[in-house]
Amino acid sequence: MSVSGRTIERGRFAPSPTGELHLGNARTALLAWLSARSRGARFTMRIEDLDRPRCRPGLAEKQLEELAWLGLDWDEGPESAPPHTEAGPHGPYRQSQRGPLYDRAIEQLREGGHVYDCFCSRAQIRAAADALHSNDRADATSEASAPHGPQDDGPRYPGTCANLTAAEVATRRKSRAPALRLRVPHEPISFDDAIAGPQQFDPATEVGDFILRRADGVHAYQLAVVVDDAAMEITEVVRGADLLASTARQMLLYRMLGLRIPSWAHVPLLFGPPGIDGQPQRLSKRAGAETLSTMRARGDDPRTIVAQLARSSSLVGDEIAACTPAELLPRFALARLSR
Ligand SMILES: [Zn+2]
Repeated sequence: MSVSGRTIERGRFAPSPTGELHLGNARTALLAWLSARSRGARFTMRIEDLDRPRCRPGLAEKQLEELAWLGLDWDEGPESAPPHTEAGPHGPYRQSQRGPLYDRAIEQLREGGHVYDCFCSRAQIRAAADALHSNDRADATSEASAPHGPQDDGPRYPGTCANLTAAEVATRRKSRAPALRLRVPHEPISFDDAIAGPQQFDPATEVGDFILRRADGVHAYQLAVVVDDAAMEITEVVRGADLLASTARQMLLYRMLGLRIPSWAHVPLLFGPPGIDGQPQRLSKRAGAETLSTMRARGDDPRTIVAQLARSSSLVGDEIAACTPAELLPRFALARLSR
């Protein structure tokens, strides 16, 4: 963490090789890089390939090439990273190679009494959550009664397996491998986001006891990201605003594991052109966002892409048609970003 008492500042970007990088991903990477480099901090690249079946072979290498093509560089990263890579704290930088570290963290949490086995299927959780909410549901759509957590987390876990006896657990383990869940205390979590401002979440109410490791052995993103950012000595996390709500869960894990919590900056998502309902759409392939791959293959100048991303973040005015990331450094400040 420190050399002669001085903390080494370190930022990071962590692409997931499950889909092509689009302009929204590129903007988040650019802003994370600018925030680190403008303060003389180191920059780490990490491949988030936890869910192997969803990862496309060779895509991670391609993503790194595209980020380098844009003009970004990094001090620590996966083996295949060009050209500034060197050994940093606690690589490797691919989550698929770091399973033992995640299991060690789970053991630490288990020793503290924070982990329990869950034998519920997805369908059982949904049914239990529906039954729990059926009384206070004013309208019949399940969307309307969905919890406030990120949508991909599914319904709030109702705690079905929270108090199984040791004998019950032993019996059930014979017929089904358990998922592991964190016992989430009722405790609001507050933090000051460098872009989004003061935040407060209550994970116990919003998502309930969340998964640390799935029944198929895949570790949860929430756990891996905390273990990795701490091991890699990341001091500032700059990432997309879609992860804002999961920050509270991660802070809970930082505290339970006795790890140093980084500072947070969640950048607004880039919006695509208005959809059929007239509302701006979150940038994704569905919204017709172009991928870096397409733009690169077409022979686009990466400096025009960087300038476009910088204009969309109010870092430069309309008069700037092309620039490199390095040319944006002198004028960069997170506080200047448009929200
Ligand atoms: Zn359960």
